[in-house]
Amino acid sequence: MAAARIENTGPRGFAGSRRPDNAELLGAPIRWPRPSLLEAELDLTGKAADGAAALGLQTVGDLLDHLPRARREARTVATLANGEAATLVVEVRAITQRPVRRRGMRPLVEATVFDETGTMKATFFNQPWLAGRYRPGTRVVLHGKYEGRASFRVSHHAITDEAAAGDGAVPHYAATDGLSSTQIFAIVSGARPLLGELTDALPARMRAGHQMPDRAAAVACVHFGETAAQTEAGRRRLAFEELLMTQLGLLRRRARRRGGDPAVALCDEPSLTGRWLAGGLPFELTGDQRSAIRTVDGELGQAIPMQRLLMGEVGSGKTVVALFAMLRAAEHGRQAVLMAPTETLAEQHFATIQRLVGGENLTLALLTGSTPAARRADILGKLGSGELLVAIGTHALIEPTVEFASLTVAVVDEQHRFGVRQRAALDAKAPAGLVPHVLHMTATPIPRTLALCAHGDLDQSRLNELPRGRQAIETHLAGGERERERAYERIREELRRGRQAFVVCPLVDEPDDGPSAVSARAATAEYERLAAGEFADFRVVLLHGQLHHRDKQAAMAAFAAGEADVLVATSVVEVGIDVPNATVMLIENAERFGISQLHQLRGRVGRGEHSSVCLLFGPKGSQRLQALANHTDGFELAEIDLEMRREGELIGTRQSGISEFRVARLPGDEELLEWARSAAAEVIAADPELRLPEHVLLADALATAHGSVDLGIPA
Ligand code: ADP
Ligand code: MG
Repeated sequence: MAAARIENTGPRGFAGSRRPDNAELLGAPIRWPRPSLLEAELDLTGKAADGAAALGLQTVGDLLDHLPRARREARTVATLANGEAATLVVEVRAITQRPVRRRGMRPLVEATVFDETGTMKATFFNQPWLAGRYRPGTRVVLHGKYEGRASFRVSHHAITDEAAAGDGAVPHYAATDGLSSTQIFAIVSGARPLLGELTDALPARMRAGHQMPDRAAAVACVHFGETAAQTEAGRRRLAFEELLMTQLGLLRRRARRRGGDPAVALCDEPSLTGRWLAGGLPFELTGDQRSAIRTVDGELGQAIPMQRLLMGEVGSGKTVVALFAMLRAAEHGRQAVLMAPTETLAEQHFATIQRLVGGENLTLALLTGSTPAARRADILGKLGSGELLVAIGTHALIEPTVEFASLTVAVVDEQHRFGVRQRAALDAKAPAGLVPHVLHMTATPIPRTLALCAHGDLDQSRLNELPRGRQAIETHLAGGERERERAYERIREELRRGRQAFVVCPLVDEPDDGPSAVSARAATAEYERLAAGEFADFRVVLLHGQLHHRDKQAAMAAFAAGEADVLVATSVVEVGIDVPNATVMLIENAERFGISQLHQLRGRVGRGEHSSVCLLFGPKGSQRLQALANHTDGFELAEIDLEMRREGELIGTRQSGISEFRVARLPGDEELLEWARSAAAEVIAADPELRLPEHVLLADALATAHGSVDLGIPA
């Protein structure tokens, strides 16, 4: 293992003398508890201090926590190329100071350094004291530029005992101008003796169960490990801890909610819902719908408030499940609401639900920002008196002036689009001392592992099966001009048969910053081009987010009514359009969209009795586009998406508002996540508030990680 001498750190870094020695402790009144040495401020000055501040590094503890992002392969002397910037581990053979002619310049230091492949001259500028520090025999990490002819100009450097053993890689840290990765490594090396100060939050039994190193060993492995296997072992332990904290936070919140104010148990024999399920529906439920309804029914029958997330793609039939829950409240003479994030969605739900309720004698109200004042006053009056049992709407439902007589069931559509406060406001609409049962819905297919992180405090149901009669959407990739021509001909065929088509473009306007940006076929330009060209014989309309609300409405209405054949649009069509007669979707520059977005987009066709097709214009070689052509199941595609992204932005995390993990990697750490989930579940089941002695440190760590009150992520 590499070890470092703290008295020798290149930049001053952590001052080892900060550690109180025995004499100091004996002479001074002993404070108890002794302050953690990890809280000692870093002893840096000048640019390095600024650099550390910019990285958020204040204390020694922060520094140990500043984990390397990767290990950079250290180069060897013999392999350096002229002009190459590189990091090397070398030994000093000889070192001298040489005066510089120019006035005001301090002497430079030249060292002869070597590794097992060769020897070179390393030059240090402006730091004459190095001649005394880097004695022959010292091993140093150098970062700088190879200037050819066995000459290396050093920009950053540090002492290390890191032998060329191991895989010869050096840790690479997030750094800034003032503080380089090499300097950070030097300072961390200096602080190494303080690793023993790190406390370990994981109960020993949990650690032993998965053969995890303790925290200090893990941190040491990550900073100083000599092989990739060692650093990975350390990283896994820290990733597990990170995932565990998240799961503990989520599960504790779930436990608190379950142990808090009760909901009304809806346990009367079914009347309305019985009739409705037996004969009121215009179709047969899918197996998934049936099982979700059964689960929801069971939960509504208890006083423990339901907090269930219903996941299902657009068109998977979530509304029936939601309506069941609402009708269950209504047949107990109690109130239910469905809240959607936009007026369009609320209106659609209202229409769908009216259709689904069929012949049942039940009054429904729609309340949005556009509801006329008189109508609104009437609705509020009836909600307050309890005369009106089921309301559908937007945020308008949770405004302070809205009062409910007996709100018992709340359905929140596209739940990630509501904040914590809005959900709290909804909870507060239930009678005093009670909370509603809540069914959250989302159409974003998220891989199981991400769902566990993003919505781990909710119970989850999935609708995987698409309703019978739903047409599969044939998806083709079109690359070259010939294929484009064929694609347009295919669309014209559909249009001549009376069907309709979407054309989706990624940008609103043709950027005027030159031909490089022209590749994005802007909706407006494309609309003009198609209306005059390929689709000159048809009625074409344009829809994008920057149009006036009125024009948007007009375009959508024309398309919905069949008065327009082709709708050219930006991705605003992603939500809010249901036109069963539309059977073609053409997507321009498809490679610019993410997998799940493309999948959502194509879900706009295939909603009627006719078979449908999606034409993706984009590079033939694109794996993502191929995946879309080959798979129809949104959850499966979400898993593929996750697989393909590896590093970088993850689907699901953005929508759900959770920040990315610092150490854990998804995909990659699924197994750790499953362990963390079950370990957290065990802890919370035995000790929901983490009060047992063996959980005290865990409670501390959780408070540090997430704040003592709650996780800052939406329920
Ligand atoms: P989601 O909200 O999940 O996007 P909806 O609940 O709006 O989907 O359902 C989409 C369409 O499918 C609606 O017109 C609905 O009436 C219909 N539908 C729902 N379930 C079924 C089913 N089991 N069989 C046939 N059609 C169904
Ligand atoms: Mg829906």
